[in-house]
Amino acid sequence: MTSRSRVAVVGAGLAGCLLACYLARRGHRVTVYERRPDPRGGTAERGRSINLALSERGLDALRRIGLDKQVMADALPMRGRMIHPVAGPLDLQLYSAGGDRAINSISRGALNNALLDAAEAADGVEIVFSHRLVDLDPATGAMTYQTPDGEAHADADVVIGTDGAGSAVRGQLLAHDLLTESLDFLDYGYKELTIPPVDGDFALDPGALHIWPRGTSMMIALPNPDRSFTCTLFWPTGGTGSFASLSSPAAIERHFATHYPDLPPLAPNLVDDYQHNPVGLLGTVRCGPWQANGRIGLLGDAAHAIVPFYGQGANCAFEDVVVLDRCLDDTGDDWARALPLFEERRRDDTEAIAQMALANFVEMRDKVASPVFQYGRKVEHALEKALPGRYVSRYEMVSFSTTPYAQVQRRVRTQHRVLGAAVAGAAALLIGALGAAVAKRAAGTGGTSRRR
Ligand code: FAD
Repeated sequence: MTSRSRVAVVGAGLAGCLLACYLARRGHRVTVYERRPDPRGGTAERGRSINLALSERGLDALRRIGLDKQVMADALPMRGRMIHPVAGPLDLQLYSAGGDRAINSISRGALNNALLDAAEAADGVEIVFSHRLVDLDPATGAMTYQTPDGEAHADADVVIGTDGAGSAVRGQLLAHDLLTESLDFLDYGYKELTIPPVDGDFALDPGALHIWPRGTSMMIALPNPDRSFTCTLFWPTGGTGSFASLSSPAAIERHFATHYPDLPPLAPNLVDDYQHNPVGLLGTVRCGPWQANGRIGLLGDAAHAIVPFYGQGANCAFEDVVVLDRCLDDTGDDWARALPLFEERRRDDTEAIAQMALANFVEMRDKVASPVFQYGRKVEHALEKALPGRYVSRYEMVSFSTTPYAQVQRRVRTQHRVLGAAVAGAAALLIGALGAAVAKRAAGTGGTSRRR
């Protein structure tokens, strides 16, 4: 199957819409099937990740099809983490040494709508809403969809599943023994809460991502264009200290007053949000292979969902689209070669960001509040300034570059090894110098020292 294939993209989320735009540009005829009705003009689902942090990888993918400026028009740049301790002053930790780099808070709905508009406007793209994939023949590309009017049937030369972490396309490959998967759920879930504007303005600094690190729990807040903040509380899903442990309004109020004392005065609907917003699950999806028969493929969360603590899931899914586009370039749009090549080029990188996202949970939950961590970040920034381009922090490479994730992971390990050796060397020199000084002093005073 080479040029001008009929491609079915299952899932009109972030990755699916962007993929449709890229494929249309290559001259393919694309039908995007989405289980939900058209979200444009509607309201967001309650408590489902209202905003997300878009950084360089996502922006790079949007820039390549001229969508970056439109998406960034409403973005709110966040230059660092604002740490909220239980008591004491707030602490702003800048993301980059110069304080000039920012990640961007974007409305998930507005981003999805902009991508839907772009896909719909592209030549050769059709979007079909209210179609939920329920069956797929991986050998022929024949699909069955559940619609409000009953079952609908379709087929395509190529089917790409961009249908998210719970992918039905992946489920079909699994059912046909064409794939294995592992789902590692965290024992933490998340719940969204809202800080509305105060007198028409932001209640907190909108130029930062706010973090309340509390060890066993954590809350973050990102600004929205309507001057509200969406808070996401991460907490275990079961046990004594968990979402389940707070049932009455009084218990909810008491908990937040004790552990997040600056929140209740800013969140008048706290109890209602807490009681009515759902608890979302968090986990890492690993599966393989990501393609079957050279005609069915997986991309984005459907292939490799990760936990959200690096703010990279959507960025990574967008980067997938760029990588697949390059694979199509390199194979002359031969899908049977492009799909395995995509997996070969991308697998190590997606595993690397999956691991870094898990590690960042511990950093955000526990470490950001510790003086040792804060000192370490200052040393890192000083090194970045002293050795520009030679020492680059992990956060900088993940969020502000398109260096492949696996390369970032390797480089950070090397930097830490060199830094560790340098610190050990400096410590050895210092200890040696101290030892020599003590010995000299002892020798100098040796003849005259007396026991008392
Ligand atoms: P999705 O966005 O999930 O889209 C899948 C689409 O497929 C949906 O439209 C769905 O309705 C449709 N679909 C599902 N099943 C079917 C079916 N059977 N038939 C047809 N259609 C179907 N990422 C970041 O980059 N930055 C962040 O700050 C960030 N924050 C996050 C915070 C939270 C709390 C969570 C949970 C995630 C966060 N992410 C973030 C991750 C990001 O949301 C995902 O990685 C991204 O949405 C993946 O895009 P996708 O298109 O692969 O899947």
